[in-house]
Amino acid sequence: MNAIEPTPRRAAEPPLGLILELTHRCPLQCPYCSNPLELARASAELDTASWCAVMEQGAALGALQVHFTGGEPMARKDLPALVRRAAELGLYSNLITSGVLLDPGSIAGLIAAGIDHIQLSFQDIDGAAGDDVAGLSGAHARKLQAAELIKSSGLPLTLNFVIQRRNAERVPRMLALAEELGAGRVEIAHVQYYGWGLRNRAALLPSREQLDFTTEVVEAARARLKGRMVIDYVVPDYYARRPKACMGGWARREMVITPTGKAMPCHAADSLPGFAFASVTEVSLAEIWHADPAFLRFRGTAWMPEPCQSCDRREIDWGGCRCQAFAMTGDPERTDPACALSPDHALMQAVAFERPEIAPAYVYRRIGAAEAAEAPVEAAD
Ligand code: SF4
Ligand code: SF4
Repeated sequence: MNAIEPTPRRAAEPPLGLILELTHRCPLQCPYCSNPLELARASAELDTASWCAVMEQGAALGALQVHFTGGEPMARKDLPALVRRAAELGLYSNLITSGVLLDPGSIAGLIAAGIDHIQLSFQDIDGAAGDDVAGLSGAHARKLQAAELIKSSGLPLTLNFVIQRRNAERVPRMLALAEELGAGRVEIAHVQYYGWGLRNRAALLPSREQLDFTTEVVEAARARLKGRMVIDYVVPDYYARRPKACMGGWARREMVITPTGKAMPCHAADSLPGFAFASVTEVSLAEIWHADPAFLRFRGTAWMPEPCQSCDRREIDWGGCRCQAFAMTGDPERTDPACALSPDHALMQAVAFERPEIAPAYVYRRIGAAEAAEAPVEAAD
């Protein structure tokens, strides 16, 4: 415990990155998608000029990176034009893609436009199981082709594997594929339980034993591959003792822009009640970053309750995730229940404790699917 002065809500630093959710459209239907349950339709998306204006304002504000994500950002026909504008503005560009729309023509167009990095996501290492999660037959094979295309293009390759109860035992094979493909970085990322992931939590949450196994495998691989491949490892909060620094702290490092132009401090912030996020079509990025009440609300440490307010980790994890605090307690101002010091920590432990032996079926990410009925099926773990 200490007596550090609370950090103020006004940002001293510009955002590091702009996370542009170009679209919610995607050929896949992953049951853990971070998109909101209510998906934006194509007709409501920002147009090319509006996205370019966002990047221009972001670069002027001091941002250094732009992440093109979605949905599937390659569903936007103007993606090469947006990449080109990012390059002209000196922004480092990262494409976060499922890879199923990547072919020799489209990757050549992206390279000509100046893309700097591609992050390719996988649902599994087993083709049938991966296609089952994706809700699209043949998706895994197309991802393998995309990985080869990225590798042969000479672009740096990052692979992302999403871990859950039906694939945790295959993490060793995932790491072997990343090594075989010569990936510079691989993310072994357990599902995060927001959006569709929260909706499908019972179908996805691994057991404590599965988590311990993946942790052991990752630690061994890190030691073996040191200097050759970076392995990022993200664990599920339900077994944690301390929370993650969600988004590096609320409105500290990143700005998320939704397909319709809402500016938010994180992907899931729209789930919080009582927030009215400004549109980039009406308010400048600089004004939003420096003065928007939604951005100021949880920035810094002045807003924090106890035990965070007097905790010496408060500028390390920034009190954890506001969306998780709201989802678990109904109050976004409370300490993230993932923290063992939180008075609400028992709520997180209860979820893990009550994890069903038989996993329910996935509710796939589709417009109107959120309320679909579930039928119990045998879990594969
Ligand atoms: S998580 Fe799956 S459904 Fe969601 S955007 Fe990514 S690939 Fe598409
Ligand atoms: S969530 Fe709050 S109490 Fe828990 S470690 Fe972080 S700052 Fe400390």
